[in-house]
Amino acid sequence: MGFFDSLKNFKNQIEHIESSVYSGKQSLLELYERNVKLEEEIAARTKELDTANKQMLTLQHVWDMMNSSKPLSSVLNATVSSLQGELGYLHSCIAKKLVDNEGDYLQVVACSGELFGDKFLNFFRCEPSDIRLKFPDIEVLPDAISGKKIYQSTNILNLVRSVFPGITEESAMNFALETRAKSFILVPLSYNHSHFGSLVVFSSRENATENELNFLNLFAKQIELAITIADLFQAVKEQAITDAMTGLYNRRYFEEFIKKEAVRAERQNQKFTVIGIDLDHLKKINDLYGHNYGDVAIKAIAEVLKSNGRSIDVAARMGGEEFNVILPGVDSSGGIVVAERIRKAIETVTLEKLGHVTASLGVATYMEHSDDVDELLELVDHAMYESKRNGRNRVTLAKPVSETSWQEVAIDTFINILSKHRIPIDIKTSKLLTNKLQEMNINNEMLYQVSDELIRTYNPEHAQDGTKQKIQLASLLAKRFDLPKESIDKLKIAILLYDIGNTMLPKELLGKKDPLTEEDKQSIKRHPVIAAREILEPISTVVDIIPIIEKHHENWNGTGYPAKISGENIPIESQIILIVDSYCALLENRPYRQAMSKEDALNVIRQDANNKWSEKLTDEFVSIVKNELN
Ligand code: GH3
Ligand code: MG
Repeated sequence: MGFFDSLKNFKNQIEHIESSVYSGKQSLLELYERNVKLEEEIAARTKELDTANKQMLTLQHVWDMMNSSKPLSSVLNATVSSLQGELGYLHSCIAKKLVDNEGDYLQVVACSGELFGDKFLNFFRCEPSDIRLKFPDIEVLPDAISGKKIYQSTNILNLVRSVFPGITEESAMNFALETRAKSFILVPLSYNHSHFGSLVVFSSRENATENELNFLNLFAKQIELAITIADLFQAVKEQAITDAMTGLYNRRYFEEFIKKEAVRAERQNQKFTVIGIDLDHLKKINDLYGHNYGDVAIKAIAEVLKSNGRSIDVAARMGGEEFNVILPGVDSSGGIVVAERIRKAIETVTLEKLGHVTASLGVATYMEHSDDVDELLELVDHAMYESKRNGRNRVTLAKPVSETSWQEVAIDTFINILSKHRIPIDIKTSKLLTNKLQEMNINNEMLYQVSDELIRTYNPEHAQDGTKQKIQLASLLAKRFDLPKESIDKLKIAILLYDIGNTMLPKELLGKKDPLTEEDKQSIKRHPVIAAREILEPISTVVDIIPIIEKHHENWNGTGYPAKISGENIPIESQIILIVDSYCALLENRPYRQAMSKEDALNVIRQDANNKWSEKLTDEFVSIVKNELN
């Protein structure tokens, strides 16, 4: 190869190298450019990931809120607040769809921490909850309100104008600027298959991306879930403890609450007071105006109780027209004040057609009147009945059990037996007697009359003044045996009640003309036990007379029933009842024999000395009756 050939070759090589270098440079440049793009891509993806992460965290936060035991309103407030901050939304709120005569509108029910800061207050002197979103002049808005699709708009000014129709143009402009929002988005919320309202979001961006809208949709679904769960939970909880007609607590809740309250009261040595309230003359209201107006009166009392209570008080409808209120931490003097306030408030209400209604109230305090919940409630009842007896529309404070007269115990026991249908007598008689008892002043004669009438429901031959006579004879006998006053009082109540079990016997047996068969006799023998146990046991103020009643057919010589006990094993009160009852029965006609004269009856009594009754009891009894005869 010659020199020129070599030079040409060399030049070629250089050109080749140059072109390689050039193309390398070219690909390096391309590589660099590609890298830059990739980095940009990575940055964008990282940002998206970051946003997705924040969105996930936000949804997680909402989920956590829903699982907390907080009330729905605070869950919703916290939920919408989580849209602010890192996700870049300026303000957000949940608005419920409501309707007025101008059509649908949205009303704010929950909002982010400070919806537009204090601006609302400053600008419009109103709270966010006063805000009504009405958009009569925006055509697409009805669609957004009725929940069909997401609605986006940059027209903040228009929004401000529609929320505050009277606003000046300048104020609207200023306010729109101050919100710093470039757009707002309405996302529909549905609940229970119908449209509930909208999630309203104010954004610092003009347009929301597809991704963003998807996220807001997902977010709205979480809100729907929160509302559904909270509502279901609330409904289940309320149904179980609420009285449907009045919205007050029901008897079940009251009974649970008072038990817990008693435990708490004792642990903390803090009393509580119970007020019993019974609407006056509801029957008359029902009869005169109809049952619906009766219901109106019941609801009116419920409303008074709702508006007169502290948040810790518990007001319950116990049934019918009967209410109880528990006042934790309140003693009887405080209880009287509250009861009086309730009484006045009830009397003051004016009802359509009915005008004014009144109620009778009873008050008793735990650890003051009684340390037993059942007894406390009975004392409340007694006090309430006393209010009825003394003319209604008044408040009565319970008396401690020891200060209650035997007549009051007897009246309340009769009312209890009749109104709770503890004996099977016909409704009319039962109502009649209850009314008499409720109207009654504490008056022996009236009490004897009711007792006589009650006895005549199963023993038509019972003497007009039978009860009076029995009580007189029994009291005189008790004094001869030096019984203390409490025992005599018990004896008097026992006299009124010892045969109450007869109401449980078949009528044909009591009125039977033929001599009783052995089976009949057995059946009649069961009655003292029926009386004592079934009828009286639920009434705590008379439980201690049950043993007296149970033994009033035991004979001195042990031939009586049901336990066949004898002599001093038979309580003296029971012995007295037996002799008085036997004597008085002899003075009355029976289907199988004529009434006896007093002298003849006394002779029969004498014959049974040492058998049915002791010698001493016979002597004392005969002497008392003889005194009476002279
Ligand atoms: P008092 O002043 O002595 O309480 O007389 P009263 O008529 O209110 O009481 P009573 O116990 O004699 O009668 C109660 C009536 O209340 C009888 C019953 O039919 C009626 N009642 C019970 N529950 C309801 C109810 O939910 N709605 C209506 N309208 N009446 C009811
Ligand atoms: Mg009533």
